[in-house]
Amino acid sequence: GQCATVCPVGAITERMEFRRVLEELDRHEKVLIVQTAPAVRVALGEEFGEEPGTISTGKMVAALRRLGFDYVFDTNFAADLTIMEEGSELLDRVKNGGKFPMFTSCCPGWVNLMEKLYPEFTENLSSAKSPHEMLGALVKTYFAERIGKNPEDIFVVSIMPCTAKKDEATREQLKVKGVDGVDVVLTTRELGKLIKMKKIPYESLPEEEYDKPLGISTGAAVIFGTTGGVMEAALRTAYELYTGKELPKLDFEDVRGLAGVKETVVNLDGKELKVAVAHGGANVIKLMEKLRNGEVYYDFIEIMACPGGCIGGGGQPKSNKPGYLEKRMEAIYSIDEMSTLRKSHENPAVLKLYEEYLGEPLSHLSHELLHTHYRDRKESVLKRKKELERVE
Ligand code: SF4
Repeated sequence: GQCATVCPVGAITERMEFRRVLEELDRHEKVLIVQTAPAVRVALGEEFGEEPGTISTGKMVAALRRLGFDYVFDTNFAADLTIMEEGSELLDRVKNGGKFPMFTSCCPGWVNLMEKLYPEFTENLSSAKSPHEMLGALVKTYFAERIGKNPEDIFVVSIMPCTAKKDEATREQLKVKGVDGVDVVLTTRELGKLIKMKKIPYESLPEEEYDKPLGISTGAAVIFGTTGGVMEAALRTAYELYTGKELPKLDFEDVRGLAGVKETVVNLDGKELKVAVAHGGANVIKLMEKLRNGEVYYDFIEIMACPGGCIGGGGQPKSNKPGYLEKRMEAIYSIDEMSTLRKSHENPAVLKLYEEYLGEPLSHLSHELLHTHYRDRKESVLKRKKELERVE
């Protein structure tokens, strides 16, 4: 993720994408749809002088409407959906056998690293697309049908804490019906810039709500924004689906916090799941080397390339305030605590989507729209390295 912020090619693409969004907003011929990642809402305020950890969900939604977007959806809806798909994939591997450890796949910084450095683990990676790509795919199919539009008549912008999502959105294997699920990715910082450029009075905006149905989400979804969150959300659902019992305690403290590698064991009625969470490049590589050498064993691993997870993403506001990561993290957990629904399998809009459209998790249509595949890119890395050596 960090590369795009320092390399000139990244900067040029960034300018082109920003301009493309401005053009689409000005022209307004297509149906304009925007979605926001979990971590954006606890950092955007910093672009307007607010303290780290200020929760700006309502104002952010209001600002996006004033920018001219027709629908403001929440990537969190798709985070709940990711848990349904990825959680089912995990349980399927537990019951019927499959590659272990299974890795989460929502961080493109990690997916790139795996394809380039650890391709032998390709089949261990969950085939679930990242949440914003799931949402993009649904907007261009399910939602397009509902509003009577063709996929080409819809323009989807993702507001992400992440620079690696920009390159992810151009992956061929993420296309649906021949078009990209997500057309352009803008970062949290770029959204701040857009709001200022269009002279939207951010400070005095009212709090507004996301549009339905793709804006409905649970507390399990928002914690995707911090290291350990995807794991915790997955465990809440996997436990209840596997055992058929209610979890006595929803908070999995062992996977929270900023330690580089965290682990815990979860007992699913006698079946023990050993899980780990790693974030930040150096911690991830350390863990992967241990796995490769057979020094450790886990069943399920969450990996995020940025320190702290997406709250510390390369597209977030730059901060030099002490404890800014912890403050963003606290804000994320407080949104979860304040939520009425805190388990992905209780999201009514997700359940309705399965009932009306997808059938069930891992169904044929779910596979077509919500899952992807990966490539071994080790060769391309070695080739490039050799070419660079020759030039030098
Ligand atoms: Fe992007 Fe970093 Fe989050 Fe990965 S951890 S999805 S690279 S912001």
